[in-house]
Amino acid sequence: MEINIIWQQCLSLLKDQLGEQVYNTWIAGLKVQFENDKFQVIASNRLVHDFIKNKYWDKINQVLEVLSHGVASELISAKNTSKSTITGESNHIEAAPKENIKPSPTRTRTKNNAIDKEILESLQSATKLNNNYTFDTLVKGNSNQLAYAIGLHVTQQPGNRNHNPLFVYGGVGLGKTHLMQAIGNTIYKNNPKAKIRYLHANDYIQDVVKASMRQGFDELKKYYNSLDLLLMDDIQFIAGDKTKTQEEFFYTFNTLLDKGKQVIMTCDTYPKNINNLNERLISRFASGLTVEIQPPELEMRVAIIKCKAEQSKINLDDDVAFYIAQNIKSNVRELEGALNKVLYQAQFSGKGISLHVAKEALMDILAIESRNVSIDEIQKAICDFYKIRISDLLSAKRTQIIARPRQIAMTLSKELTQHSLPTIGNAFGGRDHTTVLHAQKTVNSLRKTDEKFDREYNLLIQMLNN
Ligand code: ADP
Ligand code: MG
Repeated sequence: MEINIIWQQCLSLLKDQLGEQVYNTWIAGLKVQFENDKFQVIASNRLVHDFIKNKYWDKINQVLEVLSHGVASELISAKNTSKSTITGESNHIEAAPKENIKPSPTRTRTKNNAIDKEILESLQSATKLNNNYTFDTLVKGNSNQLAYAIGLHVTQQPGNRNHNPLFVYGGVGLGKTHLMQAIGNTIYKNNPKAKIRYLHANDYIQDVVKASMRQGFDELKKYYNSLDLLLMDDIQFIAGDKTKTQEEFFYTFNTLLDKGKQVIMTCDTYPKNINNLNERLISRFASGLTVEIQPPELEMRVAIIKCKAEQSKINLDDDVAFYIAQNIKSNVRELEGALNKVLYQAQFSGKGISLHVAKEALMDILAIESRNVSIDEIQKAICDFYKIRISDLLSAKRTQIIARPRQIAMTLSKELTQHSLPTIGNAFGGRDHTTVLHAQKTVNSLRKTDEKFDREYNLLIQMLNN
């Protein structure tokens, strides 16, 4: 590993642990050089040297030892330095040597495991990963099967061009963040020394804003460019941002990709559909692997509820799990919310968990959900919107001007009502269920390729839901 990288990692850990103020006052000004098989950390003068020796040296020494796999370090004062390579965060005097630093064979590791553990923990906290989000707790089903498999694959070969960047997209509460963090946690487990950082795009925007206020773009770049794995959540947020964010991100993104470092992003839509995003970024985002997570189907929703109950060590009967899953369809986050509501009600009422209690607990949520529109209403709304007649909508006519609204109405009927495909087909002039399926496919692929169409469709949903 290069001295620069080890030192940067060390600094960023110290910053996290000691706080910004201490860090800026005492640590940021330190420099480091590699001499006689040792790290020499250089304090600018005797006073600083003595103070650091007393208060922070043990910590710095431990962190350096772990990060470098056992290379020894010493703290010296500036007047004792020779003229070899010196590197410091705020002040680069000369580039650090490119060769690998190997642990000195003569040095035996004296620090005990407890110290290593503490440092490893602090390395983990610098990743900002939530260690509850793992592959073990992520239920696999049709809707996320591909994303799950690709995610696992990325953990085995992070940085591989075939999946770099990895772009995961899908609706709210479908497990994008969970999957992304599961990848991060696994990579961290395989290699605790990898410099990993999870962050929400909004935090990145904040970092860029802060950097621009203190003219600190070099520092910002240096930090992000030194990562081995960057996990950026909800990337759509940088699209709306008018500051330098997109430009900075483009730079970091390219640097990491060029170095073969893995970048993973999540988004609420696929790259081409992100509004207000720089064309260069759009094409870069799509240059690796793009994978979608879809809403879970019934079977998977049941599995998720059971998994969550199991995690909380709660025994849940199938009929209760099934009842919740059948009624809460929108996303996993709401599914979790509904389960919690049932559990709370069971405890609060002292009745224990039963189907009856579940019904009671979810009554108000379901009252809202069951304000479902009817197929009839959907047909009327579509005819109003596209200025066509109901009789035409239900007729055998296949001209585009009629057929497209019909397909949209069928798709909306499937999405917004509980009716089966055959029932819907029937309601549209006695059509076959495969026609409804075909309509759904056509509409969904149009939504992906035609932004205007997608907006129109969403508008119709909103109108119908009100
Ligand atoms: P998103 O980032 O797509 O909005 P999250 O990853 O935050 O969604 O997921 C919302 C909640 O649902 C989280 O608590 C997550 O653990 C849970 N969740 C989502 N998908 C699954 C799944 N397949 N298995 C288990 N839990 C899931
Ligand atoms: Mg998320």
